[in-house]
Amino acid sequence: MAANTIEERINRLHSTGIIDMHFDLPMDLYEKRTRPNVLATEFLSEFEAGGIGLIGAAIYIEDRYLPDRGLQVALDQVARLYTEAHQSKRCVVCRTHAEIWRALDSKKIGFLITMEGVEPIGDDLDLLRAFCELGVRVIGLTHARTNAAGHGGIFAAKGSSPEGLTPFGRGFVRECEKLGIIVDLAHINPAGFKEIVDLTTKPLIVSHTNSRKFYDVERNISDEQIKMIGERSGVIGINSVLVSPEQKGSTLDCYVDHIEHVASLIGIDCVGIGFDFFEFIYRQWPESKKKWMAEKLTTPHFIPDLANHSHARNLTRRLIERGFSDEDISKILRGNWIRILEEIL
Ligand SMILES: [Zn+2]
Repeated sequence: MAANTIEERINRLHSTGIIDMHFDLPMDLYEKRTRPNVLATEFLSEFEAGGIGLIGAAIYIEDRYLPDRGLQVALDQVARLYTEAHQSKRCVVCRTHAEIWRALDSKKIGFLITMEGVEPIGDDLDLLRAFCELGVRVIGLTHARTNAAGHGGIFAAKGSSPEGLTPFGRGFVRECEKLGIIVDLAHINPAGFKEIVDLTTKPLIVSHTNSRKFYDVERNISDEQIKMIGERSGVIGINSVLVSPEQKGSTLDCYVDHIEHVASLIGIDCVGIGFDFFEFIYRQWPESKKKWMAEKLTTPHFIPDLANHSHARNLTRRLIERGFSDEDISKILRGNWIRILEEIL
């Protein structure tokens, strides 16, 4: 196919705005809170180059703020996101599917506030209601840590806690369903994953993960877990930083292999994007913190041509080259997430 035709197809597929369900934006905005217009000066051009329409903006609290400052830092992250979105004039925080459609139709970049680990909520269910009122619409119970709700999946093939959710965690999941908050199974350990599936009735998501077929750690998900999401007509967002245990295997083609694998097990309607672009934060860290991450979690392997939002078109180009139809690409880039958001929000 002629190069210009491929570029035209990419333009068309990105013209309606693509959806990335996981980005650690709020923590970076918080760390840079003394600077004005961080969103506009450091992120907007990449969002625009990638044709980004909606981003899952994840509240995440680093260990150094826990336990005492978790709630405060989370509230500050939410405040920074609203302030920055307002200042940029091009971005808007969305709380309902109607607001998401309005953002997409007006070519704005929408943010859906998500939470990665319930540490800010502690064990106080009333705070879940409060965060819901602030606009949080997707919550994953844990990161890699153990907290009041449950245990995270570790970065090894086995060894995560055999325990499922705590009584608080079970009540938390039920309350999320009542409030219309989407439960995100990214990071939770296998026992907790199964328990959430059993406790809930609505479609479930894994906002950002990879298949254990290619990178066998409990932080990623097995074929059996992928099928559990498929049975519930959920969506799995493919992560860009854990596609392979090795840097040389961390390629755009491997990212597409993960998409193909999930689609082969549960269908093209259940796979989306959760890029988890993290390199910009990792780059800012001192060597000591990178070493800490390598020892405690893992060394992330960034895909050179899929490392930030301006690279999103590279993925679409590769999907075209690998023979995906426009209809299927549009489901992966946006349509499948839209289906879930319309159903729950
Ligand atoms: Zn994560």
